[in-house]
Amino acid sequence: MKTLTILSGKGGVGKTMLSSSLAVLFAKQTKVVACDCDVDASNLALALGIEESAFEWQEIETSEKAKLIEEKCNGCKKCLQSCVFSAISWNEEKNKPEFNRFLCEGCGACSLICPENAIEIERVKNGRIGSAKSMYGFTIVSGQLKMGEAGSGKIVDALKEKALAIAEKQRAELLICDSAAGISCPVIASIRGSDFVVAVTEPSPASFRDLKRALQIVNYFNIPYGIVINKWDINKELSEEIERFASDKFLGRISYDKKVIDAIVNLTPVVETECKAAKEIVKIKGRVKTQLYKP
Ligand code: SF4
Ligand code: SF4
Repeated sequence: MKTLTILSGKGGVGKTMLSSSLAVLFAKQTKVVACDCDVDASNLALALGIEESAFEWQEIETSEKAKLIEEKCNGCKKCLQSCVFSAISWNEEKNKPEFNRFLCEGCGACSLICPENAIEIERVKNGRIGSAKSMYGFTIVSGQLKMGEAGSGKIVDALKEKALAIAEKQRAELLICDSAAGISCPVIASIRGSDFVVAVTEPSPASFRDLKRALQIVNYFNIPYGIVINKWDINKELSEEIERFASDKFLGRISYDKKVIDAIVNLTPVVETECKAAKEIVKIKGRVKTQLYKP
């Protein structure tokens, strides 16, 4: 089985739009499972017209937090200085420490310092993952980080594990991952193990700069990649510069097309509509396929 990941350095440049269309196109030829790795802002299911209620969700614990065992605490205050995340404050009334759940990173430093073993590091439910069937015949696996919680990279690991298990069970030949944007932990977790990465950018200086940063991670893992320019015609000069930068890794351009916006608003993958951008994406899919199955 192959794994294809769609990535962008900057959010909002058309990554999920392209992911949904590529999933639909590949699913017409091969058995596909799609995985929305953007757990901070998961939108792939929506782009495919799937409501949250269609998912079978399961809560997961991939994060840890400090918890006080009050009866053991003698009020010595030694833990107060141990937290570099400023997650511990002092409750004068109780004469005991208080832990801010939103600031605590579960590093365990306070529990090591406590002479009374009054601080436990407990696992917390920080997100949920689930799967649903799309109307295009393939299963999508999605996940969400709970508000204010940390550990999105680990949720992506759990998501991919679930997606791979489903793919194996369904004898799928292709796993398509819609990565988180940026260069943080979830992105690293998204692209790790991929056979090919499609990096999407718009012709704006910020998108181009963020694309280059994201590609540093792709190169670190030595994964082959190709570049797509979305809305290339809003800045033709910069698009040409990006094409030169991409060189033989250039996969194609998608035009600015009002019908793309209509498709997104109507929760329909662009390639399921009649428009110029849809035809361009079909050509891009052909090039991605060639690269993905290159011997
Ligand atoms: S576990 Fe780490 S981050 Fe959390 S309160 Fe203790 S020292 Fe601070
Ligand atoms: S170090 Fe332990 S015993 Fe001392 S105040 Fe903190 S939790 Fe209580």
